[in-house]
Amino acid sequence: MNGTRLILMSCCAPCSCGAIKQLANGEISGIDDFIVMFFNPNIFPETEYQKRLNEQIKYCEKMGVKYVVGDYDHNKWKQEINGLENEPERGARCSKCFAYRFCFARDYAIKNGFNAIASVFGVSKHKDQSQVDCAAQESCGTIQYIPIKWDEALRQEINRESDFYRQNYCGCEFSIRK
Ligand code: SF4
Repeated sequence: MNGTRLILMSCCAPCSCGAIKQLANGEISGIDDFIVMFFNPNIFPETEYQKRLNEQIKYCEKMGVKYVVGDYDHNKWKQEINGLENEPERGARCSKCFAYRFCFARDYAIKNGFNAIASVFGVSKHKDQSQVDCAAQESCGTIQYIPIKWDEALRQEINRESDFYRQNYCGCEFSIRK
């Protein structure tokens, strides 16, 4: 395989817009090709999932970038985090949740000729980037995990200019902020 073919894991358009723009503009050196992956069976309810997915697709199409959508099987995700429902955000449930999604990306990468993975899972102020990096490093196996530091000012600028559907919680029913 020649060059770096990257999977960018995204949770929603407001978190990923800056990263997608940077990649689409060739601002991240060494990346030859990339695809946006939306694999978020953690999001609940399904109506909320659909809103985030639609917004993600709209932005990818506007930017002319490729994307792939993983299956939405929320029950399977719940089995994965079984017993960790009462953990706080940034606790053990989130580590499992990140790992589950990175493992999916790793398997997709192996089957489809990608050799690197990055994500925007840590850009929200509610997330712990080092926890995301740790889960990725433990899950990506032979696929290189690249902990790219995205341009936060650019992300905020795009958000100010866009009418993205937004939400104030990560996605799962166990972390809703009132
Ligand atoms: S709070 Fe977010 S990252 Fe943590 S388990 Fe729930 S959906 Fe996953």
